[in-house]
Amino acid sequence: MKSAKFIFVTGGVVSSLGKGIISSSIGRLLQTCGYKVTIQKFDPYINIDPGTLNPYEHGECYVTEDGVETDLDLGHYERFTGIRTTVHNSVTTGKVYQAVIDKERRGDYLGKTIQVVPHITNEIKDRIKANSLGGEFDFIITEIGGTIGDIESAPFLEAIRQLRWELGNDSLCIHLTYVPYLRAAGEVKTKPTQHSVKELQSLGIQPDILILRTEKHLKKEILQKVAAFCNVAPGCVVQSEDLPSIYEVPLNMHKQGLDKSILAKFGMDHLEGHEQSLALWEDFVKKEKELKESVKVGLVGKYDLQDAYKSIRESLHIAGIHTGKKVEITYVNSENLTEENVGETLSPFDGVIICPGFGSRGTEGKMTAITYTRTHNIPTFGICLGMQMMVIEYARNVLGYKDANSAEINPDTAHNVIDLMESQKALSQLGGTMRLGAYPCSLEPGSKVIGIYGTESIRERHRHRYEFNNDYLDRFEKAGMLCTGRNPKSNLVEIVEVPSLKWFIGTQFHPEYSSTVLNPHPLFMDFVANL
Ligand code: GLN
Repeated sequence: MKSAKFIFVTGGVVSSLGKGIISSSIGRLLQTCGYKVTIQKFDPYINIDPGTLNPYEHGECYVTEDGVETDLDLGHYERFTGIRTTVHNSVTTGKVYQAVIDKERRGDYLGKTIQVVPHITNEIKDRIKANSLGGEFDFIITEIGGTIGDIESAPFLEAIRQLRWELGNDSLCIHLTYVPYLRAAGEVKTKPTQHSVKELQSLGIQPDILILRTEKHLKKEILQKVAAFCNVAPGCVVQSEDLPSIYEVPLNMHKQGLDKSILAKFGMDHLEGHEQSLALWEDFVKKEKELKESVKVGLVGKYDLQDAYKSIRESLHIAGIHTGKKVEITYVNSENLTEENVGETLSPFDGVIICPGFGSRGTEGKMTAITYTRTHNIPTFGICLGMQMMVIEYARNVLGYKDANSAEINPDTAHNVIDLMESQKALSQLGGTMRLGAYPCSLEPGSKVIGIYGTESIRERHRHRYEFNNDYLDRFEKAGMLCTGRNPKSNLVEIVEVPSLKWFIGTQFHPEYSSTVLNPHPLFMDFVANL
């Protein structure tokens, strides 16, 4: 069995430097050198997973095929590399402590005092190595969330320090820092980077490669100065300038030889015949730069934060590049939508997305938006809660059930067209109890969606508790809203569409989780192509 090489990615000076994009770019570059790669995220917060976190805290919650609620960086990993992540790719302090405490309760530690070192750090080390056990991967990239110096990341860094000794030449540490530009002085400043590296060194970790995030292009002398002050080889300091698109980052890293430096550190080279495989990526970035025609999409949701709908935004953007259209996305706060202003707000858009969500806030506005787009034949794509809202709006305004609702929003409604699954009713905890992960779905022959997917059976990822209430199915179908995708085992409705309209499709699942740069999702492709 081959032994994997481990790459650790840490961040210093400030947060939000884009460690996720850098890790994803490194993953992509190593893939193009012919290697099998996986990327995992270790987050220092105490939540078991981000499933219970408000998107304002941590952006979108991304869901893996095996049903784990994870950090949005896993979305970047999958979009950049096309690999599927699993339960092993997302670890939090909460998960680590829970596992250690469970073992303690079972008596596994044989009467020992349980301590951060070695018990917590051993658990972290085991989890860092978990992806290497099957011998599937050549490289395991581990991104450590947070910033060096944070109290809560200390056990993760101690685990890395120990692993560096155990793994020897099979491990590498890449540190991402920030180089600010002081306008008044007219200079870039490397001191924060020097301090951040010192902090890492004081924890016993010497970085092998430094990546400097910067708004201004850094001269060679600056990179050399950082190398000299931080005990890093001159060729191993690279810069990551602000670029027009995150998808240019792998090309920029490649231009500076980051892939070569990483492989050289491990005494490796690219595999035979793999020098050219960046071509597809270059092609994608070239198309992105050349986009001329633009289309306008309104994103109707309740979170006024770009990251809350990250995967939807990226899926639209990527589909746009593949179809030659620049998708201009405008966020529309559904809480502000009224019958009076909906026309003026939504008429500029070529298409509208009704976003996922939880709870009742902003749902009436989503319904107002759908009435407008349905009656004005504006292409509309409802995702999860968005699909449920399409169903409720149809029940109210076409079937005539004025009080139709979801049991999530009004548990006492007489027309519960969206209701809780039986299996959910008995559950008392919120975290991790939804229908999560990929489920099969059979598409209806002759439907629009079967044409779009080009296949009868698909698998898509879910994250919800409530479902279409099948008691109403016949009435919807008679009135023109068809169920064109259903779960083959449970018969749950997974897709609705109104074929008499130009593009009016709602999915109970989240297609945005499985759209990647080189494999854009067919529903997003078709939606954008029809705008
Ligand atoms: N709140 C809805 C449910 O739980 C939809 C969830 C979502 O949009 N992800 O069923």
